[in-house]
Amino acid sequence: MRIGAHVSSSGGLDLALDRAHEIGAEAIQIFGASPQSWRRTNHTPEKKALFIQKSRDWGIAPVFIHAIYLINLATENEENLKKGIAALSADLALAGEIGAQGVIFHIGSHRGVGLEGKLGQIAQAMQTALADSPGRPQLCIENCAGMGDSIGSRFADIGRIMQAVGSPRVKVCLDTQHSFASGYYNLADRDGLARAMEEFEREIGLEHLVAVHANDSKCPFGGGLDRHENIGAGHIGTEGFANIMAHTAFKELPFLLEVPGFEKQGPDAQNVALLKQVRERAGGQGEGLE
Ligand SMILES: [Zn+2]
Ligand SMILES: [Zn+2]
Repeated sequence: MRIGAHVSSSGGLDLALDRAHEIGAEAIQIFGASPQSWRRTNHTPEKKALFIQKSRDWGIAPVFIHAIYLINLATENEENLKKGIAALSADLALAGEIGAQGVIFHIGSHRGVGLEGKLGQIAQAMQTALADSPGRPQLCIENCAGMGDSIGSRFADIGRIMQAVGSPRVKVCLDTQHSFASGYYNLADRDGLARAMEEFEREIGLEHLVAVHANDSKCPFGGGLDRHENIGAGHIGTEGFANIMAHTAFKELPFLLEVPGFEKQGPDAQNVALLKQVRERAGGQGEGLE
């Protein structure tokens, strides 16, 4: 179990690793391009090589790329669908070039049509992105909090999409805050967590869980809002994270912070240290939890 963080790569890809190293992160997530823009960032071969070098030197791995926020594979807009596929494909290609394990993305919103009506389109879009960027990098669906008509707050929906795509490269990233806020999965509670992970195993398969977005929650259980909080300062709390980290399903996974930061500068040393403390405690509890 490695404690990592989403860090900025502004000024050059490799600088993300300097930032991660500085706050004590053992794994890393970055944007491959500016998240609110369709425009791609041009990463030079030198920067990519430096990135690989630094991640090796400091042992910061795994590396994940978070896709841009504009992607909506359930969109009605042909043009935006094409752009979304191209963005995913570009991030998959970049992942291959910098030794990243995968690309984490949000499926998007169906705007009232329901998953059923959009399943074919979503699956085809993911198949195209994967085919356009062959190789090892995984395409990881992130579960969402269920705001609006966003797709993927239930494990069953994610499982259906994975089945429709039918590629071994499709994996899942579990966001603790989104799970909790959705009202379906109370990960902070021992029984709630056990039930959630049983459902994950049944609908998706635990072997497909490859990353965790470790975020505390500003809103209470079932609050329905995508609002991240610093570790211990929200409704999941350090006890909740101790509960999560002691579960065997998370034993080998990277925990990637996407918290606001105590100085509001994003994931920081304090949040990393807090999670490391919780990990230590959770480890001390042994293998008792199923
Ligand atoms: Zn997330
Ligand atoms: Zn979120």
